[in-house]
Amino acid sequence: MPNLNSLQSFRQTLHRHPDLSGHEEATAARIREKLAEYQPDQIVDNIGGAGLLAVYDSQKPGPTTLIRCELDALPIHERSAQPYCSAHHGRAHACGHDGHMTIVMAVAQTLSRSRPASGRVILLFQPAEEDGQGARRVFADPAFTPFRPDYAFALHNVPGLPLGEVFTRPGPFNCASRGLIIHLEGKTSHAAHPEEGVSPTGALARLMEQLPQLPGHFNEATWVTLVHAKLGEKAFGTAPGDAVLMATLRTETNDAMTLLADQACAMATAEAKAAGLSVRFEWEDDFLASVNTVQGYQHIVTACEEARVPCHTMDEGFRWSEDFGVFTLNGEGAMFGLGAGIEHPQLHNPDYDFPDELIPVGQSVFLNAIRRLNGMG
Ligand SMILES: [Zn+2]
Ligand SMILES: [Zn+2]
Repeated sequence: MPNLNSLQSFRQTLHRHPDLSGHEEATAARIREKLAEYQPDQIVDNIGGAGLLAVYDSQKPGPTTLIRCELDALPIHERSAQPYCSAHHGRAHACGHDGHMTIVMAVAQTLSRSRPASGRVILLFQPAEEDGQGARRVFADPAFTPFRPDYAFALHNVPGLPLGEVFTRPGPFNCASRGLIIHLEGKTSHAAHPEEGVSPTGALARLMEQLPQLPGHFNEATWVTLVHAKLGEKAFGTAPGDAVLMATLRTETNDAMTLLADQACAMATAEAKAAGLSVRFEWEDDFLASVNTVQGYQHIVTACEEARVPCHTMDEGFRWSEDFGVFTLNGEGAMFGLGAGIEHPQLHNPDYDFPDELIPVGQSVFLNAIRRLNGMG
């Protein structure tokens, strides 16, 4: 059993001082200080930004097993009466990454006493998950190359599911998603002479209607969700000369995303051409699908059995996105959802707070996976 009081108060300290994606230095410093108590064989700083690794190395042959958690919080103003509520206006740990970090710290606590018997265990505190940049940056960082894992695991707490129960599946676990910004450019004119301009109005209206209707691919569901639109300026004297349309594209697989993205751009290009407009695309918030390997999934199922944690195999993956997919694209591994309670406030809501009851549950599932792969002294 972990020393829960010390871990709970650590979680509350992290919660009180949230950092936004790409600016997690203060959180990373807190992690580093706490990790030193648990004597990893090596700590590597500044991985893919403010990320850090704690390495428990048996110095014997065997697999490298990575457990990932996230450092970042969200630009949300927290609504909470807790004494540990965010001390920073407009920033909150509303996705529970404070709890995920604490779970991984609890794993470190056990590993400090029962070290891996073979191979290595890498605890990764990853930066910038919320903007989809962090996992990629970690993987691209040359300092990470010697630590590339054979197996990678991560969890995310999930409000709306029963507290402390695990939900996972082989195959797509989280959707791929990409933010598409379409810029349409024509020519303004006096509102009295709209025929002298080139207005994007018709093209914008048709795209707003047709983009969400783009069909799925490979028998899988896809979603195009319009999130923002802007036409011209707020000026009664001017016929508009430009428009912006933003949409989130979501698919179960990366291949379907490639097709959906091509189709969305082709549709916008055709509409622009027909209306005599120029068109330009920008992409943001780019998440790969997170796909569990069969072997990774099986390790989670068995780890849950050994930890006596109820484990459900889901029929479908979650629609939300996660950048963990980078790790399972490059090796074995799986992600699992950990129920945060049926009535628990949803992720990214101002009243969300991580349930501390999940700390020993997550810790135990991860430790059982490690015990199977690396053995523990
Ligand atoms: Zn989130
Ligand atoms: Zn999250």
